[in-house]
Amino acid sequence: MNPIQTVLPANKRQMMKLWIKHPLATFTANRQDAGNGVVIDQNTGKISELVPSGQSPKKPYDQSYDASGQVLLPGLINTHHHLYQTLTRAYPPALNKKLFPWLQTLYPIWAKLKPDMLFNATQLGLSELLMSGCTTVADHHYLFPESLTEAIDIQVSAADSVGTRVMLTRGSMSLGEKDGGLPPQSTVQNEATILEDSERLIHRYHQSQEGAKVQIALAPCSPFSVSTELMKETAKLARKHNVRLHTHLAETHDEDNFCLERFGLRPLDYLESVDWLANDVWLAHGIHFNEDEIRRMGQAGLGVCHCPTSNMLLASGVCRTKELESTGVHVGLGVDGSASNDGSNMMQEVRQALLINRLRYAADEVTHLDALYWATKGSAKVLGRQDIGELAQGKQADLALFSLDELRFSGSHDPLAALVLCGGHKAAAVMCAGEWLIKNETLLHLDQHAIMKAHQLSAQALVA
Ligand code: ZN
Repeated sequence: MNPIQTVLPANKRQMMKLWIKHPLATFTANRQDAGNGVVIDQNTGKISELVPSGQSPKKPYDQSYDASGQVLLPGLINTHHHLYQTLTRAYPPALNKKLFPWLQTLYPIWAKLKPDMLFNATQLGLSELLMSGCTTVADHHYLFPESLTEAIDIQVSAADSVGTRVMLTRGSMSLGEKDGGLPPQSTVQNEATILEDSERLIHRYHQSQEGAKVQIALAPCSPFSVSTELMKETAKLARKHNVRLHTHLAETHDEDNFCLERFGLRPLDYLESVDWLANDVWLAHGIHFNEDEIRRMGQAGLGVCHCPTSNMLLASGVCRTKELESTGVHVGLGVDGSASNDGSNMMQEVRQALLINRLRYAADEVTHLDALYWATKGSAKVLGRQDIGELAQGKQADLALFSLDELRFSGSHDPLAALVLCGGHKAAAVMCAGEWLIKNETLLHLDQHAIMKAHQLSAQALVA
């Protein structure tokens, strides 16, 4: 049955107001809402009204979508990924290894990445995320071998084909094996090339206005793969153009030791020494900080992307989410690269976030609402955005609907808690900027089987 009902004849349909009506439950990001859905203005791509319980929209609407039996969420926001890694999921030589040996096993494979492989990986990873309700993705791409100097341009085009919002980070590695770094020499670039390409990409693609679909951020891979000079110059360049900064930090104890040996500083002290302790910075992982460091991060207004599955798989540790939030650090969620999660599913990540945090905090200290908040408004703050991540009048119309008509939800009583606790993982419908991208659990603009076939061929060619 098609849940769309047209109220006005086509020739009168100029306003294109769509009422998503009668949801089972709604999470606005600020509260669990008992209302009667939202009205979307498809001309502006924004939410024009939150309809109170038992009522109809105040102003006329053209169409309605019957969300009975479905839970309504803001579109989920993934704040850290390496989409190219979808090509090396569950790769036998890398299984069951800690971070550094895991990286050393995979770098020589990743060094062979070609443009068509990156396109296929980006398209498939974004589609996979979209099907889990994720409408905004930050990808950290830092591999620029000679055959792939236009990696970000390729990702912009792949993202456009899927329709999600992206924050594409121009990553970098300048310290190869011969300089004491981890990556093979063929994957690193010199600093002038990195900075020049970063500036080119900002000019070409970065949108700063409300509702931006493509944004660029600058993202040296980690303290163990770039020089001190590049960390400093990248920060200067980002601030000159008002774009954000991102890197991996405090993921493992090995990294603490590396920083102490190389710089005589703990990772956060090193970050401060290169002028990165600021509110335009977000960090992936952020696990191993002491009390004083957490206080300084809060004062600076940093963001942390919490990556529960990746941290469990690589046995990295548990992020101190509540302490970070209590000092003012913004906490969001990320699935991390598909070689250290092996899945790109944001709803599953919400459940993982709840579960891993229950290992550190009491049952009443972290709830399913906290985990949903991190995946929506928390993540939006991490990316420095005020226009997405919540259902409120005037915000971007990014949303996901999940049907509870499945065996796994049968017998549940609180729909929102059921979505997280019973393992919801597949969105029935997803909208980004007022445009439907998924309906009936199906991608509307791409052939799922065709992109999967192309992706599988790329994955085989990469490890051959
Ligand atoms: Zn990562």
